[in-house]
Amino acid sequence: MIFQKIKASLTIEAVVKFYGVKFTRGKAICPLHGEKTPSFVVYNKNQTWQCMGCKQGGDIINFVSKLFGLKNIDAVKKLDYDFKLGLIGEKPSKEELLRFKQQQEAREHEREQQKLKEEKYFRLWEVFAEYDKIRIANMPENKNERPNDLLIHVCEMVDIYWEQILNYKGVT
Ligand SMILES: [Zn+2]
Repeated sequence: MIFQKIKASLTIEAVVKFYGVKFTRGKAICPLHGEKTPSFVVYNKNQTWQCMGCKQGGDIINFVSKLFGLKNIDAVKKLDYDFKLGLIGEKPSKEELLRFKQQQEAREHEREQQKLKEEKYFRLWEVFAEYDKIRIANMPENKNERPNDLLIHVCEMVDIYWEQILNYKGVT
């Protein structure tokens, strides 16, 4: 019953926006997995959400439960509390509030880490591309010509960065 009440009181759009999902032309970066290309959408018609990237989807309640790692009943309590709906007679206990807060912080920390990893990865690509440009610009026209020191150095750097890109872990 309370699940129905919560769902009837909120729209999927309001909920995902409240928890930081930002849309550009109808799509958003999925908050549930690391991605660069937006593949998270909401459907107002049936009040559901879906991510084409991680193949997850569902309703308001399971969005909150997945986002914060909560049980469905706790997700309901959190929604009631965050949106000040007052549908649940009892207020969340201090322990529950603390748990919500901790889960939220853990989730934010995780997202921050993911962002840093992604930034580092793209920086690797940038540096790689810069060196590769220099490498191509300095290639000897004649095959028999000895490569100059700059070219040798740049080729080494290209190899080093390429290897780092290949070995890079943490971005899906
Ligand atoms: Zn996703």
